[in-house]
Amino acid sequence: MADDRIRITLDESEMPTHWYNVVADLPTPPPPPLHPATHEPVGPDDLAPLFPPELIAQEVTTERHVEIPAAVRDVYRQYRPSPLVRARRWEQKLGTSARIYYKYEGVSPAGSHKTNTSVPQVYYNAINGITRLTTETGAGQWGTALAYACALFGVECEVWQVGASYDSKPQRRTLIEVFGGTVHRSPSALTEFGKGFDVDHPGSLGIAITEAVELAAQDESTKYALGSVLNHVLLHQTVIGEEAVLQLAKAGEAGADLVIGCAGGGSNFAGLAFPFLREKLAGRQDPRIVAVEPSSCPTLTRGEYRYDFGDTGGMTPLMKMYTLGHDFVPSTIHAGGLRYHAMAPLVSHVAHEGLIEAVALHQSECFETATEFARTEGIVAAPESSHALAQARRAAVAAAESGEEPVIVVGLSGHGLLELGAYDTFLHGRLEDDPLSDDDLATSLAAVPEVR
Ligand SMILES: *Cc1c(COP(=O)(O)O)cnc(C)c1O
Repeated sequence: MADDRIRITLDESEMPTHWYNVVADLPTPPPPPLHPATHEPVGPDDLAPLFPPELIAQEVTTERHVEIPAAVRDVYRQYRPSPLVRARRWEQKLGTSARIYYKYEGVSPAGSHKTNTSVPQVYYNAINGITRLTTETGAGQWGTALAYACALFGVECEVWQVGASYDSKPQRRTLIEVFGGTVHRSPSALTEFGKGFDVDHPGSLGIAITEAVELAAQDESTKYALGSVLNHVLLHQTVIGEEAVLQLAKAGEAGADLVIGCAGGGSNFAGLAFPFLREKLAGRQDPRIVAVEPSSCPTLTRGEYRYDFGDTGGMTPLMKMYTLGHDFVPSTIHAGGLRYHAMAPLVSHVAHEGLIEAVALHQSECFETATEFARTEGIVAAPESSHALAQARRAAVAAAESGEEPVIVVGLSGHGLLELGAYDTFLHGRLEDDPLSDDDLATSLAAVPEVR
């Protein structure tokens, strides 16, 4: 039975020493990535210009556990374990018999889960003599997390920020610069691909990725870092779920009945969910696992499961994933980090296999829930995370009606203290829902390449 603690932590001796690779336990292997030109499976050599060997090995490994290097664990200790918190005041407000626990990643230096992968990514590059990393960022959280990790390991950090966010979120840019990074507005005049766009184009993550990849591919001492989507990124994020499984047991719970995370590229969702999926596949727990996405970028719920590029310029391998089409430019909703055109291949695979579920929500419901959450739990959630909260609220309200007592674990991927402009828009009645239209979806899907 649950005890009356609110904030559950872990002792030093209980901290996870390994990341968890869900591939080892899946009933069917995920389809391989394909070379963009030949459509043959990509090998390690194809990825070598962009990533160090350790990350390439992690991208394809089928080992169940990968040891977290001591130098990485040492940085994790600055902010991990992140707390698992019982949302007692929110439960009371909702009058629910559900027990809601949130896993709060906002305590990290960048204010989101992204530091969990930026630190190992920069570490592996640094020990391979890489002196500069390029990347893209949307709302700015990934750029912030990478800049911080680069500062720790003495690597230069150059960030292409999606134009719309660059213009509307100057504070994020400043934060990246405080951590020592350099920020360019994307599309930029610094790359051949960027030069093809008007200077005031709002940009997209897909465009920014192409720009960052283009520069990294040209220079031997420069590599590229991606903040979501790839297998090694999801692997690093499993530290979230590994801690949460232990913390939930420490709280006296037999297991989770519902695990909920927001999904943009899929990394924080997978990080929380995959260790619970392992427990489910092993028959030790039986949670429903739900990914929540915005109705304006509904990749899992309305996209097609097929091979597509990870970027707009078609430079990345073709990956089998739920996609809205690689040149899809989502509406400028505030949940910047959920605006990616596709979903991580591993998350797509487990969704296609029916091991997880997905829902799409309007952002107005998400902001409404997030303000209620702030007024009871004292945390201003990132707009992305508010999608997970809104789905948890739906389940808690349903439990209030049925009298059931589900244990809900919800991923709170970051804080929203740098997104107050979005809250202002909501609080003053200027927030609009902008669900994707069927016509726009058909147009962007028509540009997806045919494979086999
Ligand atoms: C980047 C980000 C997301 C979306 O990315 P995923 O890879 O889907 O996790 C969600 N929440 C926050 C706070 C983010 O910074």
